[in-house]
Amino acid sequence: MADSTKDPLFGFIRRRVTAKQVQGAIDGKENPFTRLPHSDRYHKILEARKKLPVYTQMDDFYEMYAKHQIIVVVGETGSGKTTQIPQFVVYSDMPQTKGKIVACTQPRRLATMSAAKRVADEMDVRLGKQVGYSIRFEDMTDPGTTILKYMTDGLLLREAMNDPDFERYSTIILDEAHERTVATDSLMGLLKSLVKRRKDLKIIVMSATLDALKFQKYFTIDEPAPLFKVPGRTHPVGIFYTREPEPDYVEAAIRTVIMIHRTEDPGDILVFLTGQEEIEDACRKIKIEADDLVANDPDTVGPLSCIPLYSSLPPQQQQRIFDPAPPPRVSDGPPGRKVIVSTNIAETSLTVDGVVYVVDPGFSKQKLYNPRIRVESLLVSPISKSSAQQRAGRAGRTRPGKCFRLFTEKDFMKELEEHMHPEILRCNLSSTVLDLVKVGVKDLVRFDWVDAPAPETLMRALELLNFLAALDDDGNLTPLGTKMSAFPLDPQMSKMLITSPEFDCSQEILTIVAMLSVPNFWSRPNNRRKEADIAKELLSLPDGDHLTLINVFNEYQNNLNDSKWAWNNYISARALAEAANVRAQLLRIMERLEIDLVTKSHPDQTRHYVDIRKALVCGYFMQVAHREGDKGSYLTIKDNQVVSLHPSCGLDTQPEWVLFNEFVLTTRPYIRTVTEIRPEWLLELAANYYDLKLFTDGETKRALQRVLNRLRKKQGKKNAKAAASNKKQSEKKEAAS
Ligand code: ADP
Ligand code: MG
Repeated sequence: MADSTKDPLFGFIRRRVTAKQVQGAIDGKENPFTRLPHSDRYHKILEARKKLPVYTQMDDFYEMYAKHQIIVVVGETGSGKTTQIPQFVVYSDMPQTKGKIVACTQPRRLATMSAAKRVADEMDVRLGKQVGYSIRFEDMTDPGTTILKYMTDGLLLREAMNDPDFERYSTIILDEAHERTVATDSLMGLLKSLVKRRKDLKIIVMSATLDALKFQKYFTIDEPAPLFKVPGRTHPVGIFYTREPEPDYVEAAIRTVIMIHRTEDPGDILVFLTGQEEIEDACRKIKIEADDLVANDPDTVGPLSCIPLYSSLPPQQQQRIFDPAPPPRVSDGPPGRKVIVSTNIAETSLTVDGVVYVVDPGFSKQKLYNPRIRVESLLVSPISKSSAQQRAGRAGRTRPGKCFRLFTEKDFMKELEEHMHPEILRCNLSSTVLDLVKVGVKDLVRFDWVDAPAPETLMRALELLNFLAALDDDGNLTPLGTKMSAFPLDPQMSKMLITSPEFDCSQEILTIVAMLSVPNFWSRPNNRRKEADIAKELLSLPDGDHLTLINVFNEYQNNLNDSKWAWNNYISARALAEAANVRAQLLRIMERLEIDLVTKSHPDQTRHYVDIRKALVCGYFMQVAHREGDKGSYLTIKDNQVVSLHPSCGLDTQPEWVLFNEFVLTTRPYIRTVTEIRPEWLLELAANYYDLKLFTDGETKRALQRVLNRLRKKQGKKNAKAAASNKKQSEKKEAAS
């Protein structure tokens, strides 16, 4: 199919193809990857593909791709970047002939799976064979067969630890670069330094917005990287604002959907909300109101289907967004309409055709990090102007559309920021820093970041890794740190897992880690809240939520042959199956690192629980809070933040000292997944961190000081006793001689 020519630029044999040759192969009878005849479905999808703006630019793409090592691609969302460009590259590289493959990164798991599935269909191959995907804890690729791998940016970053030169790839495509996740930003830094060493590696940076110039300038080799611009093909979108600010944006969104359904022409609706619970709730309410509407007025109002979309949705349900709108109930009845209620994922990552109306309340869940008090939280926050523009654009894909913004025009102009700040300025970096140190980045401050993180945030990350003993005082990786980096987990978690054999409980800690790595598995249906709460209480252990996690997992395992167990206990069987899968994968890493898998249950169960709680302290000693008098609130240690136990917490008392897994900020600051601990353990197991000289004055310091004094007194008595008995013994000896 292609000519092998010696490439004058790179001096190695890189297959060069022309668009015409690729066109020929695509239109041909036989699939060049499977050597099987193309299916009917292939031809049907191909027709749609040929209409995509990117597809019509194939010629220009190949011309630029042949000439340059790095390209920046921009184009409207839905123009075909994610699905088409990687295929062009595969046809051009035919990389399997050199044993190398093509990677295309995505910031989100859901978009990664969805793109791989779509492209496997488009190429008429089985998902997981020639086209596959890889996300944390799930690898759907077949080494040796896979030539195109969609993967999360975080996973590619992790691969760099063992393969810093990305030797297995011929081309790396960083997609959705405008999202500016920490992992994509880090990859850009690594790749920029790599291109000089690996002249044969090609890099494509793809982005939806037009701030491409920043990426072009960043990737300057002699001259800025060239821009491949996909011409837009969008229709005008009318923007409507509310006259007054909306007090309740979810309620306003539901009202707007119903208004559109009642009064506007046919066309699907896309609603942006912020998270799973809110979305499920809104879908239910929309459905009820729409059914009412139809019942009252069946001659003018058509059927309405309402489909949720968020990242933890099971794959089959996620695919429902591509289903057509429901047909009219009778052949000449009013047409049906589809409503998709989605998180930010539909802003640029996933394109749904047929959307004509967008409802935008102007919020999304965003990560925020305060390095001063070391708190990272997900907060519902106003979006940026450019996000609002992206969202509106979703309405103009098929024909002219309308966007209903549930805020005032004045707020849009005055209150919204131009762009979102990149994630690197808004998150905790400890995990990324550990990854980069392992990859071999020596100086994180002088690392060539697209936007450098705040020095204080870097400091906090280094400090945490140092307290965990992953980095020594000079910032070098310790043997423990090397082990920790082998786990795709937060540093605290991997530390706790690695230390757990010392407390005879690595089986249990492994279960806890797996359970903390999957989405919330307690289900609490609206109409059965009471029953769900009772079921939860029955499974909960009073000593702590972490111990409850073990209990739930064990019960699940013990009842594997009872298909109703999860349902009866208001637990998501899918989440627990995922936890079992995560556990099995982490187990393999432990075996590889020769970390003992032990459990030693004492005849006295509480002693065993003490050991487990001590192992928790080894990882999470920085996340501890002390009860403040009897007001029911807690103060976090060292940072002195006032917090409360989250309502989901299963403790039946309010212990004086607790360790928590997570700080959440909703209506007020909460700590979630909480277990009682003893302060002595902190002083004993994390002596470096609990050096009271390093504490600022405050109630928590005083409480710890009291504990320390008590311990010293006890120790003093013990010492005195020991000295006395020594004295007695030597006197005895003397008397005997
Ligand atoms: P971009 O990356 O430029 O935003 P994509 O390549 O993701 O665009 O999508 C291009 C088009 O491919 C979409 O508008 C849609 O028509 C189609 N498409 C993508 N994914 C799917 C899917 N899973 N099912 C059906 N159609 C899809
Ligand atoms: Mg895309």
